[in-house]
Amino acid sequence: MKFAVFLDIDGVLNTRTTCEHTPDGYTGIDDARVEILAKVIKKYESVDLILSSDWKRMSPEEADYIYLCSKLEKYGLHLSGKTVDHWYNRGEGICKYLEEHPEIEDFVILDDNQFEFKDFEKLWERLLITDGIERVKFASNTPAIETIIFRDYIKLFS
Ligand SMILES: [Mg+2]
Repeated sequence: MKFAVFLDIDGVLNTRTTCEHTPDGYTGIDDARVEILAKVIKKYESVDLILSSDWKRMSPEEADYIYLCSKLEKYGLHLSGKTVDHWYNRGEGICKYLEEHPEIEDFVILDDNQFEFKDFEKLWERLLITDGIERVKFASNTPAIETIIFRDYIKLFS
């Protein structure tokens, strides 16, 4: 089964109290949080990690983007793709990605913001709202089973 994780960075792999900085001086990424994500993802047979964060707007040659990729690689993770948004409609970008990738059978979304996800029931039921990945809660009162399983793994490893 092909599973996908739509990954936001700020508020998931860092928080406002993160001390580390990127090469360009922005809030960096916490190793401990990447490690939690990596352990969860290892529980799945096949996972596509899709960047939905605004970090996707950087070009692959930018120092901060290289920094992001190296942080993920340190724990055996790599990005399979990224969404494309129109006017910061992050949910729409994810819907478009799913349409273009019918091989994805189920997914979760990690994000510290709600954006317009509520407009799409399928996304809302798969949204995990974070304050740092270890502090995670369901967006929906009726989360999808895959969302419940994913959250249980996060709790297990954090
Ligand atoms: Mg964020």
